[in-house]
Amino acid sequence: MSRKLNFYAGPSVLPVEVLEELQANIVDYQGNGFSLIEASHRGKVYDKVHNEAIALIKELMGISDDYSVIFLGGGATLQFSMVPMNFLVDGKVGDYTLTGTWAKKAYTDAEKIGKVHAVFDGKDKNYTTLPEASSVKPSANSAYLHLTSNETIGGLEWKHWPETGDVPLIADMSSDILSRPVPVDKFAMIYAGAQKNLGPAGATIAIIRNDLLERCGDHLTAYLNYKTHTKSNALYNTPPVFSIWGIKLVLEWIKKTGGAEAMAKRAEKKSALLYGTMAESNGFYRCPVDEKYRSTMNVVFRLPNEELEAKFLKESEEAGMLGLKGHRSVGGCRASIYNSLPEDAVSTLAQFMKEFQRKNG
Ligand code: PMP
Repeated sequence: MSRKLNFYAGPSVLPVEVLEELQANIVDYQGNGFSLIEASHRGKVYDKVHNEAIALIKELMGISDDYSVIFLGGGATLQFSMVPMNFLVDGKVGDYTLTGTWAKKAYTDAEKIGKVHAVFDGKDKNYTTLPEASSVKPSANSAYLHLTSNETIGGLEWKHWPETGDVPLIADMSSDILSRPVPVDKFAMIYAGAQKNLGPAGATIAIIRNDLLERCGDHLTAYLNYKTHTKSNALYNTPPVFSIWGIKLVLEWIKKTGGAEAMAKRAEKKSALLYGTMAESNGFYRCPVDEKYRSTMNVVFRLPNEELEAKFLKESEEAGMLGLKGHRSVGGCRASIYNSLPEDAVSTLAQFMKEFQRKNG
């Protein structure tokens, strides 16, 4: 079997050994005579997978018992609503850093629920840069400050975190969770959709500091209240069991291959290869993002014109490389190089870029 080199932004590449493990157990899960996806989510077999996945998230991210870790449905997108529904209370203001498409979506949803304020807006620079973390301050009556740690479409990534004092710092880490060590204790809440660094689509991970749960309003319907899920160990309703099974296997793979530190080293090396190729291209390849904040997960780039970009995408696909088209809202090219993407795939892409420039430059 020849697998393509997968640069999709999400759902995205998974470790081959995880796919093989799923395949080997899909009909008969570990000799139980049934598949895990046919079993009750209240049974012993699933319970073990569920709890191991939660324990591995805690272990790999260094999360203390001051936090609850839960799985939710609805994608990271539902968190754009649930965060303000639960925490934007008592006439307070939700502070947002507008750094690109995803941060703006979070802000726009919160705006429908309560008072919001943009503490930073990257609009003037077309969302190609981030603020200095130390310059980001919450407003006086702040309920929380929200940031998007990695803008998947724009290719920007926070390298340092704002100090928000008593104001809860909340982060959407959908596209860079577990790609590097993160000081979880600086955050009141972290959430992330699974389908980039963590596993098959379906589950969203939410990590919530327990004291914050006191604020969740009892006016909310059951599913929308975080307390419902923290109280029931994320088993209030049927969880996305296949996604969580896949997440458990990916987490085991991350652990076996060195944890967050090793993921960060690999991500630095892989992204440096692509940014380096651009730097040596005499302007043939251009990354629009401020050098200080270039993402190690989503590397965006432009070619001299759209005709060449179309040719690049066509020929790269013919050469077995998938998903290099930039998001439809911005165009250009983007290589998503999440944890599970082997270094070889990135070297092949860098080589292809050089060759393409030689022929078309
Ligand atoms: N936030 C970020 C940073 C994302 O990249 C995405 C998806 N690409 C989302 C939120 C939305 O996630 P979902 O599709 O799981 O709702």
